[in-house]
Amino acid sequence: MHRWIRELLILLIPALLGIAIANLWDCWLAGLTIVLALYLAYSLLQLWRLARWAKHPDRALPPHAPAQWGAVFDHLYRYQRKQRRRQEQLRHVISRFDRLSEALSDGMVVITQHDELDNWNAAANRLLGFKYPHDRGQHVTNLLRHPLFVAYFASGDYDEPLIIKSPADESRWLQFQIVTYGDNERLMVVRDITRLQRLQEMRRDFVANVSHELRTPLTVFTGYLEPLAVHAETLLPPRISKGVTQMQQQADRMRHLIDDLLMLSRLENEQTLSPLTPVCVASLMQRACEDGIALSQGRQQLTLAINSDKGLLGDKEQLRSAVTNLVSNAVRYAGDNRHITLSWSETSTGQGHLSIEDDGEGIDSHHLARLTERFYRVDKGRSSATGGTGLGLAIVKHVMLRHQGGLEIDSTLGKGSRFTLSFPAQRLHSPDSVLREQ
Ligand code: ADP
Repeated sequence: MHRWIRELLILLIPALLGIAIANLWDCWLAGLTIVLALYLAYSLLQLWRLARWAKHPDRALPPHAPAQWGAVFDHLYRYQRKQRRRQEQLRHVISRFDRLSEALSDGMVVITQHDELDNWNAAANRLLGFKYPHDRGQHVTNLLRHPLFVAYFASGDYDEPLIIKSPADESRWLQFQIVTYGDNERLMVVRDITRLQRLQEMRRDFVANVSHELRTPLTVFTGYLEPLAVHAETLLPPRISKGVTQMQQQADRMRHLIDDLLMLSRLENEQTLSPLTPVCVASLMQRACEDGIALSQGRQQLTLAINSDKGLLGDKEQLRSAVTNLVSNAVRYAGDNRHITLSWSETSTGQGHLSIEDDGEGIDSHHLARLTERFYRVDKGRSSATGGTGLGLAIVKHVMLRHQGGLEIDSTLGKGSRFTLSFPAQRLHSPDSVLREQ
């Protein structure tokens, strides 16, 4: 029978009783009061049973009740079972995820929007020396204090991973990759790349050792060759004299190549940022401009534009090498009768921009992404003919990494190129004029 009809039948019993009493006492109010009092008592009883069950719904089944109260109890029971099933499923998913993250050999660390450690797996304990749950809520940089990590974390630019030694074990190398999600929360993935790093170290050491070993015989070779080349034209027959000149040119090229290889391997092996030594940018650029004018031999017009009196904090030799490489490239590739501008300025956000711009032949856009790779050349013949080693821009890129900055290349074929070295505000030093006077 429909539950509402049953409910009406339940109400009918006190109603009949009420009518009988009303007739007996000839008082309708007394009858009505009895009807309402009985129905209210019945409803309060069901409510009390419901409240008693609701206190500990897990311990017992909901009470049985007739009519509409029974329907309410049934609905609640079904709802409770559904919720329990959902909770079970959720618990299952969470425990699977926990087991998965515990099985991972990579460390996974969840970082809150306030830069605090929220959660992490066992691998993170092992790789980073965290202690769970003791370190929960700690600021990340309280536990990972490596200056490169602190700078990387604060930069907010996580496109490239960071590689440093493990704080828990100095013999291990770790790669950090941070992904931002949700409300500025971050997931940090930490991978042990010690094996890969050792292989790369072996390769770097091999290149550095070979370059070093080649230097001595080359010095002896050029030592004999130089005086011979000076008098070659007068002392030797033309064919041999031409050969000697070419030998000297190739020996020079080899020397440049060895110097660049050694410089690059030195930069790659350095694991710390460049020191914060004040460097006078105006003098540095003045000298690079003079070198450029000497190299150009009047084929191009070089202009210097110093628009900021700020200096830089960094490694003077490395910065000089970066600027000289860019100026030398502009002179060698721009073509004759072109303009080359060396400029230094400060942006509105306090960054330093050092750029070398030419209105020369430019570079086709599909080469741009690969220009900083070792030995990548747009025109190999031209690079070799002008004494290029193919390592210049790779060196510039590494110098900028050491200075927490970047190299931006803009170029349009037929219109020219601009190479910009951008330095973060904390690398700028004021005022440059004081340094120049020193
Ligand atoms: P290289 O020793 O060959 O000059 P780099 O790494 O310095 O090696 O430069 C890579 C390539 O980028 C060069 O071979 C050249 O083709 C191109 N390039 C660099 N600077 C310029 C420029 N200012 N204009 C045109 N091409 C350039």
